[in-house]
Amino acid sequence: MLTSMTKTDFQKPKTVEEAVTLLKEAGDDARPISGGATLVALMNARLVQPSRLVSLSAIDELTQCTYQSDGSVRIGAMRRHRQTAFESNLKAAHQVVSGAASQIANPPVRNMGTIGGSISFADPAADYPPSLVAANAEIEIAGPEGRRRIPAEEFFLGWYETALEPGEIVTAVILPPVSESSVGQYEKLCRIAGDFALASVAVTIDFNASNTVTSLRLAVGGCGGGPIRVEAAEQALIGTKLELDAVVDAAELVVAELDPIDDVRGSAEYRLKVVPRLLQRAFNNLVETREPAQ
Ligand SMILES: Cc1cc2nc3c(=O)[nH]c(=O)nc-3n(C[C@H](O)[C@H](O)[C@H](O)COP(=O)(O)OP(=O)(O)OC[C@H]3O[C@@H](n4cnc5c(N)ncnc54)[C@H](O)[C@@H]3O)c2cc1C
Repeated sequence: MLTSMTKTDFQKPKTVEEAVTLLKEAGDDARPISGGATLVALMNARLVQPSRLVSLSAIDELTQCTYQSDGSVRIGAMRRHRQTAFESNLKAAHQVVSGAASQIANPPVRNMGTIGGSISFADPAADYPPSLVAANAEIEIAGPEGRRRIPAEEFFLGWYETALEPGEIVTAVILPPVSESSVGQYEKLCRIAGDFALASVAVTIDFNASNTVTSLRLAVGGCGGGPIRVEAAEQALIGTKLELDAVVDAAELVVAELDPIDDVRGSAEYRLKVVPRLLQRAFNNLVETREPAQ
């Protein structure tokens, strides 16, 4: 028999340690709640019935985005998508993440949803996951055993599955230092404005003074259970100036690594046609926004 929503115990701790303790006390039926954009809808549909909700909204450290002395940026898990979209600390290649945030859903969802909630839910069509892989981000996690950090690439394990262990919460996303000459771009195609991605691509690139690519990371979203990084394509583009031939060849390497499914948003075949065009658009936009070589 379904239990009533009124029996859910609600807690609003002030520290991460307190939140972890409250989750541990209540066991497997407890859930952290951040923006509630997804969790409240799941509860309203009676798909989940937590015995305890632990709100992360009053934990000060989770609400901050800070530029660290080593050039890395720490985005607290409770940062709303709207805040990340307009975040002044995100410059150069880090803009792949603000670009992803700005394309999530619509203004009400961007005002409500958080980066911690989004990546913990790990929807395969969500916008942050490929951007965080392309940005070489690390995810900071807190649990009963303390804190740990793992690369975004190892955090997303598959369809709605992450490396979070029971009782753990995401506390921050850490973006590594980047050079001023680096750039980042996120491109997404959706059926209607405000929808999840049918397919998406995220790229970060660094160039030398003559506009040759010296490093590049590339990830695809919406074409599998999680973000897919294609290292063969990255290697093929390093040393080029992103000439059309090089991009077309790299796009073939990307498509060879994808194994999308048919779903309500589009067929697998369509996705495989869309991804090369998104890549082309990402590179075109990046090249256009760069200063000409000296
Ligand atoms: C109409 C609509 C359209 C949307 N469109 C898009 C879109 O285009 N692109 C996109 O990327 N997303 C989209 N979303 C999802 C949106 O980005 C949500 O913000 C996100 O899925 C959940 O974030 P939240 O902070 O609201 O999390 P919540 O709803 O509070 O929580 C979601 C889940 O994560 C868990 N959780 C929350 N915070 C943490 C944490 N810090 N650590 C561990 N677990 C945690 C909760 O227990 C719950 O299981 C859409 C959502 C809606 C409702």
